[in-house]
Amino acid sequence: MNLSTKISQFPRVRKTVVKRLEKLGIKTTADLLFYFPTRYDDFRQIVKVKDLCEGAAVTVKVRVEFISNKHGWRSHKTVTEALVSDETESLRVVWFNQPYLAKSIKSGEWLYLSGKVKSDMLGAQLVSPIYEKVANGINASTACLAPIYPLTSGLTQKQVRFLMKQALEIAPAVTDWLPSEIMEKLDLTPLPDALAGIHFPKDEIERDNAIKRLKFGELFLLQLRSSLARAKKLKQKAPKIKFQEQAIKDFVNGLPFVLTASQKKSAWEILQDLEKPHPMNRLLSGEVGSGKTVVAAMAAYDTASNNFQTVILVPTEILASQHYASFKKLLPKNKIALLTNSQFRISDFIFQNTTKASQRREVIKKIKDGDREIIIGTHALLSDKIKFKNLGLIVVDEQHRFGVEQRRTLKEKVAVACPDASVGMLDFQTSRRDVGTIKSAHFLSMTATPIPRSLALLIYGDLDLSAITELPLGRKPVLTRYVSADNRQKAYDFIRAQIKKGRQAFVVCPLIEAASFVIPAKAGIQSPGSIDDSLDPRFYGDDTVIGTTNTNDKKSVLSEYEKLSKKIFPDLRVDYLHGRLKGAEKENIMNKFKTKEIDILVSTSVVEVGVDMPNASVMMIEGAERFGMAQLHQFRGRVGRAEHQSYCFLFSTDESNSEDINNRLKYFEKHNDGFKLAEYDLERRGPGAVYGIEQSGHVDLKLATLGDRDIIKSARDWAGKVVENLADYPTVATKIKDFNTKIHWE
Ligand code: ADP
Ligand code: MG
Repeated sequence: MNLSTKISQFPRVRKTVVKRLEKLGIKTTADLLFYFPTRYDDFRQIVKVKDLCEGAAVTVKVRVEFISNKHGWRSHKTVTEALVSDETESLRVVWFNQPYLAKSIKSGEWLYLSGKVKSDMLGAQLVSPIYEKVANGINASTACLAPIYPLTSGLTQKQVRFLMKQALEIAPAVTDWLPSEIMEKLDLTPLPDALAGIHFPKDEIERDNAIKRLKFGELFLLQLRSSLARAKKLKQKAPKIKFQEQAIKDFVNGLPFVLTASQKKSAWEILQDLEKPHPMNRLLSGEVGSGKTVVAAMAAYDTASNNFQTVILVPTEILASQHYASFKKLLPKNKIALLTNSQFRISDFIFQNTTKASQRREVIKKIKDGDREIIIGTHALLSDKIKFKNLGLIVVDEQHRFGVEQRRTLKEKVAVACPDASVGMLDFQTSRRDVGTIKSAHFLSMTATPIPRSLALLIYGDLDLSAITELPLGRKPVLTRYVSADNRQKAYDFIRAQIKKGRQAFVVCPLIEAASFVIPAKAGIQSPGSIDDSLDPRFYGDDTVIGTTNTNDKKSVLSEYEKLSKKIFPDLRVDYLHGRLKGAEKENIMNKFKTKEIDILVSTSVVEVGVDMPNASVMMIEGAERFGMAQLHQFRGRVGRAEHQSYCFLFSTDESNSEDINNRLKYFEKHNDGFKLAEYDLERRGPGAVYGIEQSGHVDLKLATLGDRDIIKSARDWAGKVVENLADYPTVATKIKDFNTKIHWE
């Protein structure tokens, strides 16, 4: 047996068990060994039978008085009943559907029994305890910290522990890839011991040491990837974009507003990066409305002044045309083009041709000939047909809204589209291009998702970060209330009063329709588990994501629309909007809302993006517990965009009155800072839940969390050192190679 031995080849393993393990992604010994318990039951204390109390998880050491099977005459279950005792008292034990127990356990034998105590009128009882014969040795495994694994139904802890013990027999032969230098300096447990120690620890110390070692391994690998990407970047060449001081000054002075301090700082960081001979690889984050566009425009302007082209990629057509309009306004003298699948526009040019197709070809030719300085568009720009003359800067706006797959092709396609450029981001995976020095464009991604610095450093360690941390002056914070069900009527009264004052309101629901039917989700997109176009922030609008679930109890746009328009506000103008409406219908409704022909708009999260309705002053969110903090924050950002004081009301559909949910929504009520909110979610739900990063292959953290600041720091320090002399660390080099091929294939 070795690490790649299939579970199906283990002795005495049933096919059903193999299948169920596969569902958990466990196929080989290695998979099994790295399937970690989420907690432990403490079975170390052997309790006297007379001291048992209801509900406790205990281990007793007892003698079997008698044992026999009974058949339930209605169900077809076999019940095995036993009476056991120690020197203090006797105890009843039952097992279900394990008739063989009556044969393998004999009266008079001594057992360790571990399980939960239940009491009824006849006294204490153990139900389906784990057993181990005392004769099997003194260190009975049941009398320890027993691992509890996250399992699917049909698998028992006992089955997994049984297989785990077999798998652990090969642990001593597992070689540790961490350099001994690090192991010694940090006093880390060697991998084989760590594996044994996380699954079957003798005590807390052994367990904690094991966890520390395994966490370090995860974080170290992540940091190594970042450090390598940085090192590689320094080998690449990018066009030097000389800082055009006077031009930039004129640009800033010509703006109708004063830049905020962090806009200035971010712009400065970007312009400095562009001057360097290596490709910039920077992430600019800042909330919706914080003014990222103007910062990108400065970079594009600087680039154009150096006679290089800039590409601006955005995820939707709406955003593309919005940007085209803003860039034309901001940079009236520059030659700008817009290109999406359905539209093309070009500033300051009269077409020679009359047909759309040939006009489109004219635009493409102008881009190729370098006659356009700034090219704005959707992924249509990534088509093989689009070539650039001298690309200097690539800007990706709302980069998190590009799906996992799109992000990957984006990187590859841009590299193809501009033969001289390879994109600097994470592309050491495609080592094909890693020959000598590569000429590459500068890369700026922008996102409105608040990414706390701690997370950004961890997962985007190869990126430099700029953040716009304040909103332009004069915006009033939105007053937020988490409203209990009893006060729903008051919220409605409040909305009515606002509408009387001339304002408008949004009502956001997590679902389109309350019904349980099945529509397959698009390939490659993880179903968010609901009929819905809102829960996956990367896809909305025309890209409705539809999942499957039983949704009867959840708030939906259609049912809320019914209720509000007929019962609550029959005298007001209520309408609805969701991603499955046709493009023209959506536009029509948005226009009607803008021209105040609609008072209340019931919607899915399609209103999350591209909606600027300064007259709306109320954002009411139904089923708020179903949205992540970052997304709730985006909704809230839809109001309070003008001089009117604005309000956000949250309602929860959670009936269990979960403390977690209450705490989360209360936290949201009290905090207006998107970064704080994202951090809150991150620490509780992990980066995967918050940003969908896990699926993207960015991060594979099983144990480590952002809270492990010390380990993160030492992992980063060591990664820096090791990458400088990777040749001296062959086991690390191999590990990285394995890691990358795995990610690449998946
Ligand atoms: P986002 O960061 O969401 O992309 P935008 O760049 O679209 O934000 O900016 C939102 C609005 O704020 C725009 O109308 C823009 O002109 C305006 N704006 C940007 N910077 C400032 C500023 N410093 N002061 C006032 N308004 C600004
Ligand atoms: Mg923007």
